[in-house]
Amino acid sequence: MQEYRNDKIVVRYDPKICIHAGDCVRGLPSVFDVAAKPWIDVNGAAPEAIAGQVRRCPSGALSYELLNKGD
Ligand code: SF4
Repeated sequence: MQEYRNDKIVVRYDPKICIHAGDCVRGLPSVFDVAAKPWIDVNGAAPEAIAGQVRRCPSGALSYELLNKGD
């Protein structure tokens, strides 16, 4: 399991589950970019936009948790 976080959101990715449908890369390329390292940039879009894209992952490889630090 891979984990990418900032103070607003944690995105987890399980490469064993990913079916490489590419929905995440097409849907939110500012965050999901397989040519970049790390390939998930949690600072590339608003946390709500990232969460919405994660929910559209067809395989369940992606999951997220919104954090409320600083509230
Ligand atoms: S949307 Fe999910 S299944 Fe599709 S490439 Fe991204 S992580 Fe893999």
